[in-house]
Amino acid sequence: MLSRTRPKVQLPLPGPKARAILARDHGVMSPTYHRPYGWVPDRGEGAWVWDVDGNLFLDLMAGIAVNTTGYAHPRIVQAVQEQAARFAHVCFSDFAHESAVRLAERLVQKLGGGYRVYFGNSGTEGIEAAIKLARYHTRRPYFLAFSGSFHGRTLGSLSLTASSSRYREGFGPLLPVYHLPYPNPYRMKDPLDQVLSHLESLFRHLVSPQEVAAVIVEPIQGEGGYIVPPSGFLQALQQAVQPHGILLILDEVQSGVGRTGTFLASEPEGIRPDMVVLAKGLASGYPISALLAREELMTWGPGSQGTTFGGNAVSIAAAHATLDLLEEGLMEQAVQVGARLLHGLREYQKLYPQLGDVRGRGLMIGLEFIHPDGREHPELRDRVMLKAFEQGLLTLSAGPSSLRLAPPLILSFEEAETALEIFGEVFRQALH
Ligand code: PMP
Repeated sequence: MLSRTRPKVQLPLPGPKARAILARDHGVMSPTYHRPYGWVPDRGEGAWVWDVDGNLFLDLMAGIAVNTTGYAHPRIVQAVQEQAARFAHVCFSDFAHESAVRLAERLVQKLGGGYRVYFGNSGTEGIEAAIKLARYHTRRPYFLAFSGSFHGRTLGSLSLTASSSRYREGFGPLLPVYHLPYPNPYRMKDPLDQVLSHLESLFRHLVSPQEVAAVIVEPIQGEGGYIVPPSGFLQALQQAVQPHGILLILDEVQSGVGRTGTFLASEPEGIRPDMVVLAKGLASGYPISALLAREELMTWGPGSQGTTFGGNAVSIAAAHATLDLLEEGLMEQAVQVGARLLHGLREYQKLYPQLGDVRGRGLMIGLEFIHPDGREHPELRDRVMLKAFEQGLLTLSAGPSSLRLAPPLILSFEEAETALEIFGEVFRQALH
C-alpha cells in the first residue's frame, strides 16, 4: 500500500522518456488530442501512478472521473482476468449473456425499478441512444439543453454540447437544439427563476413545447466547470416540462456511479427521470455506457438501435466488480473524504481571494479562479494546474476558469490530507 507515500517528482517535467513519447505522439496522432500537460503514465496502484520516467503522482482526476476504484484494483483486475479467460465478446446485440442481463437488473434496481437498459461503449453513444429514443417515442424534432453543458462529440450529442464553440465550429448544421442558461449560484442572482423565465420565453417566442422531444441536463455540470445547481432545480425543471409531454433525460455520465456520494447525483432531488445515461466510472476504466429509460418509453423494436461492442463481457465484469465495491462502502467514503477536501480547500479560499469559489459534492469538486473584479481567470487556473503537476498532483481544468478534482473514490483520508498539504504549496507558488 502506498497510502503513506508522497509524490516524488524530478523537475523539469516532462522527463526525457516522456518528452520522447510526446514528440512521437505529436508526429502521428490526430491534432484533435488535447495535452493539458506532459504526463505520460507507466503504471498505477490505487490513487498513485508512475510516469515513464519513474516520477510518482497522486491522481486527483481519475482519467476524467473514470477510474472509480483507482488504478489496478485487485478486485477489478481479477474480474477482468476471469472474464477474459472465458470470453470477451459475443455481440450482445445478437446474443444475450447472463452477466450483462444481471448488470442491467442491478442498474434498474438502483433506480427503483421500471426501467429498461441499452448498453453502449461510451458516454456519447449513450446520449445518442437517448436522443434517438426521445425522437422515436415522441416523434418530435426539437431538444432543449443547457449552455456550458457537455454531452459528447458525435453529431447528435455535439448538437447538445455547449461548453465551447470550438467543439462545434466547422461541424454544422447540427440537430435543432435550444439552450437554456444553467443555474449557476456563483454567477447568477436567483438562478432558478432565471432558468424558468428563460424557458417560458423560449416557449412563447421560439418553439412550441409540443414540438420538443426532450430536455437533457447534467445534475452537476461537469466540463462546464463543476457547477452545482441550487437544490430543487431538477424538480422544477421536470414540473415545467412534463405537462407538455417533454421527456427529462439526465446525463449522469460524469456525476453518476457514486462520485457525489449517492449512486446518481440526482438522487437527492427525489425525481423519477424519463431516462438516465451512465458511462465513465461505471466499469472503472473499461468502456461501457448504459441508457436507462422508463419501460413505457422503450417502444422501439429490434434493429432500431444497436452496436457491435455494447455489452462487452469484460466491461460488464468490471462494472459488476465496481458496483460491488460501491455497495461495500466506497460511496460513504467519497462523502467523508470529499467533505474533508472541501473543508481544507475552503480554508485556503480565506487566504486567497483569487480562489473565488470552492464547490462540489462528494468527490466532484471544482475550484474557480478569478480576477480581483470577479472575472474568470483562465491563465491563473492553468498556472495552478501546472504547479500542481510539478508538485506531483494530477488535476484537470473544467469550464473557463475552474480546476476540477475528481479523484478515484478509493482516495483515503490520509491521501486527501497529503493533497491538501501540497495544494498549500501550489497556491503559495501560483497565487502570490
Ligand atoms: N456526458 C458528460 C456529462 C460527459 O462529461 C462526457 C465526457 N466528458 C460525455 C457525456 C461524453 O462521454 P464520452 O467521452 O465517453 O463520449
